[in-house]
Amino acid sequence: MTTHALASSPAEQARIPELDRIELITVSLPFVQPFATSVHSWAVKEALLLRLESGGVVGWGECVADPDPYYSYETTQTARHIFKDFLLPQVETGLTFAELGQRLKPVRGHGMAKAMLENALLDLVARQRGVPLHELLGWPSRRIPSGISIGIKDTIPELVSAVEDALRRPYHRVKVKIMRGKDVAWVRAVRQAFPQIALMADANGDYRPEDAPLLRELDAFGLTMIEQPLSFSDIIQHAALQRELATPLCLDESIHDLDDARAALSLDACRIINIKQGRVGGLLESLRIAAHCHERGIGVWSGGMDETGIGRAFNLHLQAAAGFTLPGDTSETSRYFAEDIVEPGVVLSPDGFIEMPTGPGIGVQVLEDRIARFELQRERLR
Ligand SMILES: [Mg+2]
Repeated sequence: MTTHALASSPAEQARIPELDRIELITVSLPFVQPFATSVHSWAVKEALLLRLESGGVVGWGECVADPDPYYSYETTQTARHIFKDFLLPQVETGLTFAELGQRLKPVRGHGMAKAMLENALLDLVARQRGVPLHELLGWPSRRIPSGISIGIKDTIPELVSAVEDALRRPYHRVKVKIMRGKDVAWVRAVRQAFPQIALMADANGDYRPEDAPLLRELDAFGLTMIEQPLSFSDIIQHAALQRELATPLCLDESIHDLDDARAALSLDACRIINIKQGRVGGLLESLRIAAHCHERGIGVWSGGMDETGIGRAFNLHLQAAAGFTLPGDTSETSRYFAEDIVEPGVVLSPDGFIEMPTGPGIGVQVLEDRIARFELQRERLR
């Protein structure tokens, strides 16, 4: 397949249909257990959803921003503001997705708000055409190898037992969150208990360049990667750190778009990129980043933002694309929610894969009665 075919999705030329009804809905879903990173712990999932209706067909988008700015500067409230005041006014019937992308370019950043809009429009168009989203994006269905992400625990035995629990399911790799003070000894304990598993660590930006000697100790544990050890805004210092480490670095928070990915690869600041479509402005920019990495032999994978079943389905369809060579973070729904807002939920096959949804659009049924039950706010814009 040529570079050009890889970089350009047929969805770029699809046209935006007339929108009869536009609603923003905020939902709050309790997590089965709180999820903690080096920065913050979340007990509920608050998500901003976009519901679009056109000719009786409904498309859905999910914004991956949290209500707080502890993963990204974007929040559910900034996304609402940017969407209503700057993005929606640029949407016009008959525009192609490529043209819409150009119109949204002057809005700097706010990739999460942009992704919500693009997601909902792509789902709507795919549903109107009666095709699965991955087909509109230009990729055949495939089975997705699943990994699991385990949050910060209070004690080392709790972490080891959480990994043991996770491994009762056939996940293809285990990621543990680390932070300063909960790192080398914690990873060593997991590695000693499970010598064979594919293991990686995610620091969510908790370390400083002067922590390089400590991070170098992690080289002893054969990790597949260390994710985002340094600041969420840094690329340069990661390049210096990568030169000192044998373990590949993976950038997550630092990559906001294709330009960031280009900069990171040209500086050798990482050997792997975690593409969160909801963070980099949507599926089409994700495909551009994946193609750029693929051409350079750099592996990418699809991270998660603890999405509801709507966002989770978008992440699955994205992983049909070439370049997603590493297991992603899309794990089973039951780990996150007792009740989700879509059916069916994500389940693992006995060999640790997730089947791509087969129906039109994102391919899952959105349960509007459940959404009404979990709803905090609903705003009709058209
Ligand atoms: Mg991460």
